[in-house]
Amino acid sequence: MGNRYRVPDRFTAGAQYIGGRLRPGSSGRDHAVVDPATGERVLTYALAGRDDVDAAVAAARAAFPGWAGTTPGERSAALHRFAGALAELAGELALAESLQCGKPVRLTREFDVPGTIDNTAFFAGAARQLEGRAAGEYSGDHTSYVRREPIGVIGSIAPWNYPLQMAAWKVLPAVAAGNTVVLKPAELTPLTSLLFAEAATEAGIPDGVINIVNGAGRDAGEQLVSHPDVAMTSFTGSTAVGKRVAELATATVKRLHLELGGKAPFVVFDDADLEAAVHGAVAGALINTGQDCTAATRAYVQRPLYEAFTAGVADLMATVRLGDPFEESTDLGPLISHAQRDRVAGFVQRARGYATVVTGGSAPEGPGAYYRPTLITGAAQESEIVQAEVFGPVLVVLPFDGDDEGLALANDTPYGLAASAWTRDVYRAARATRELRAGCVWVNDHIPIISEMPHGGYRASGFGKDMSLYSFEEYTQVKHVMYDNTAVAAKDWHRTIFGDR
Ligand code: NAD
Repeated sequence: MGNRYRVPDRFTAGAQYIGGRLRPGSSGRDHAVVDPATGERVLTYALAGRDDVDAAVAAARAAFPGWAGTTPGERSAALHRFAGALAELAGELALAESLQCGKPVRLTREFDVPGTIDNTAFFAGAARQLEGRAAGEYSGDHTSYVRREPIGVIGSIAPWNYPLQMAAWKVLPAVAAGNTVVLKPAELTPLTSLLFAEAATEAGIPDGVINIVNGAGRDAGEQLVSHPDVAMTSFTGSTAVGKRVAELATATVKRLHLELGGKAPFVVFDDADLEAAVHGAVAGALINTGQDCTAATRAYVQRPLYEAFTAGVADLMATVRLGDPFEESTDLGPLISHAQRDRVAGFVQRARGYATVVTGGSAPEGPGAYYRPTLITGAAQESEIVQAEVFGPVLVVLPFDGDDEGLALANDTPYGLAASAWTRDVYRAARATRELRAGCVWVNDHIPIISEMPHGGYRASGFGKDMSLYSFEEYTQVKHVMYDNTAVAAKDWHRTIFGDR
């Protein structure tokens, strides 16, 4: 067993971070955080209840005028210090994320944690880029300009697949723009959001600007979305829960940002670099044990490459090493929970009735929530395994003939979060980037993201953008300010009221 993380006792005493302090949840119900690699409990904490949500929103509301009144330069300086505090904590963050999610330490150390620090540094700079449009005399008699203003208290809800990065994506653009936040992480993964919020306080971000309520979706989550003092809901999670969140947010007329599920296609044209496509498909399908909203899930391969691609993927999948997330040699960790493993196994079991499981399709012996990398062929386009989000280490490969067909099949699910095209022909690549209906399209790669560029869905994958300057469109509102330049009492337009008097 590698060097496991020991959860600090302070989180057992209190896993709610409200107004800059830890406190126990008031729901009267406990939640056990389980290490999915071993099945052992690593933390039991009291879930947030209504009082905690109210207290967190009140703290965020109280902090809002002061924080919104800081200059962009002051917010930028605070976020730079925050990035520094996170860098100091990098080792602990990586271990805590690996423990609660079962992610291999190589992934948390090289992806989750540096990505979060970079995102924090990016928003430290971006805080100084907030601006309205240039002013002008559009009516002739007035000067108009646009003020870009924060919205107020943001209620954010995050999933369990990348808890630290999701906390960063939800919190950073909001606070950089002068808002205050109450974040509800997924019940299964409270640890790194708490460490993140503590680091913010240590960096001098005022109490109440970032609050964390660790509670159940149906109570703390719904209370946060419905709360009258929350001005906006920012949700990342499944499309099914996103629909419920949208109903609740609409009932209280809130601004809404939804980052939902995905079923990313991976389109391999017959001139593609086969070795690159095989490597890309296996890495893109297995990243984070397939629990990635942009993971490669459906590979469409043009007929001349289909057999070689399928054989290559099966061979490469067989080399992937499942193991203890804390061992350096481990490539693939467990799924987040035994329930998620059973859900994935259910999809594969049902697919056996209509498709071929080429490799994988089983769970190794032992207490962890592991599942072997799985390759499926022979499934019909309309079948469940091709259409539904499995969220596990499962790749389906289907053949296509003409380019039109490949692109049409790629677009044929309700989702639209991400897609990739594999070709050496610049015209094919350009066509694919135009026609694939997704918020992100890669050419000859699949998965990389970067703080400067927007992330967000089309269609059933939601709307609104995380990361990049585009995220400020979600977390700010624009106000038109109009000055009269004539200084006359009887304005021209008053004739519509007073006639020719
Ligand atoms: P989920 O929808 O089950 O839960 C997400 C969050 O919503 C959790 O915090 C949960 O407690 C909360 N929640 C549950 N029911 C709620 C309710 N009725 N009201 C308010 N909140 C509620 O998703 P998950 O299983 O945690 O995460 C996996 C899903 O997230 C996948 O569908 C994945 O594609 C999606 N995801 C999307 C993106 C993206 O950027 N589009 C990123 C990561 C994950």
